[in-house]
Amino acid sequence: MRRQPHRIYMSGLVVFNMLIETGMLGLFALAGTIKPWIVVAFAGTVVPVSIAIHLMFRIGLNLRLKEKGLLVPQLAVNAAAQLIFLMLAPQLAVFFMLTMIAFSGYAAPEFSPRSFTNGWLVFGVLTGAAIWLVRDRFRFPGASGLEIFATWLFFFLALRSLTLASARFFRLRAKLSEKNRQLEASLRQIEELASHDHLTGINNRGTFMKMLEDEAQRSARTGAPFCFVMLDIDHFKKVNDTHGHPVGDEVLKTVCDIAVRTLRGIDRIGRLGGEEFGILLPDTRAEEGTISMERLREAVNDHDWGSIAPGLDVHFSAGITSYMPMDNVQKLAKRADDALYHAKETGRDRVVMADQRLSARACA
Ligand code: GH3
Ligand code: MG
Ligand code: MG
Repeated sequence: MRRQPHRIYMSGLVVFNMLIETGMLGLFALAGTIKPWIVVAFAGTVVPVSIAIHLMFRIGLNLRLKEKGLLVPQLAVNAAAQLIFLMLAPQLAVFFMLTMIAFSGYAAPEFSPRSFTNGWLVFGVLTGAAIWLVRDRFRFPGASGLEIFATWLFFFLALRSLTLASARFFRLRAKLSEKNRQLEASLRQIEELASHDHLTGINNRGTFMKMLEDEAQRSARTGAPFCFVMLDIDHFKKVNDTHGHPVGDEVLKTVCDIAVRTLRGIDRIGRLGGEEFGILLPDTRAEEGTISMERLREAVNDHDWGSIAPGLDVHFSAGITSYMPMDNVQKLAKRADDALYHAKETGRDRVVMADQRLSARACA
């Protein structure tokens, strides 16, 4: 319910403005422009009504209503008051109109452009009718020193109201852009969560497979070579069983860290599931890819795993394949998977190149 303090503030501002207006009318009464009873009537009706509205917000009576802002009743009361006194004191018609302009500045941000236009038309026409009705007594204040001073003061204070209203616009705009910024940050966070693996922070399966798909399409177009690797940690179940699941998690994260550090900036890595990872090596031929994977294998083997858990040792097996003409992601994945299987079968802790010739023949 953060709107309520704002309502209390705004209705308080209206009371303040009405008191100022009373003072202004008093000055004109002193100058002899209007009769003193008009000031008394204004102070006796408009001021108490605005105070009553303000108290209603303070007590919270409005919260029981459907339209809690009471915007339309408030504006209608203010507009009616200004029009009635415009007709009672036509000499000051221009000032009552000026006051309404300043007031409408406060109300503008609360209304839709359409209802604001409607309000403007209704009030504009009513004001026209009111001026027409009192046209015989319509005149501008005279030119005594006090009248000139009161005229200037009226203008000065109305201008202040307008600048307050526009300051409010600016605050609203600043708040809006701050909210936008927060929204964008949340969106980025959601995107990050949706595209990355929670544990290791690398690409998740969906994102990685999309990258592989894009790379295959690029190669089909440009003929640029690339390698695809399937990497699986050896006997990982035993790591969990011997050292516990948290150590297993730490191993997964560390393997990813080592891979990110060892691979080139353009290489891509994703978690395909469990302790299985996919690696994409763009602009890389089969031999270069094998060298790159051997380097990663050495880096993992050389890592000080004992610092995570005493007696811990980690190795991986990998199957690697390079893109061939007429390839698609399924064929690539099948070849890499077969090569990985071969690596496991022949003793683990090794990188095996897929038999490209065999696969090419099978695909033909
Ligand atoms: P192999 O050398 O043949 O690959 O044997 P392995 O034990 O690595 O393979 P297996 O597929 O039998 O076991 C994989 C294990 O990985 C089983 C599963 O509990 C564990 N695992 C999968 N995801 C996670 C994870 O997020 N954290 C941890 N700590 N363990 C996981
Ligand atoms: Mg494994
Ligand atoms: Mg596995």
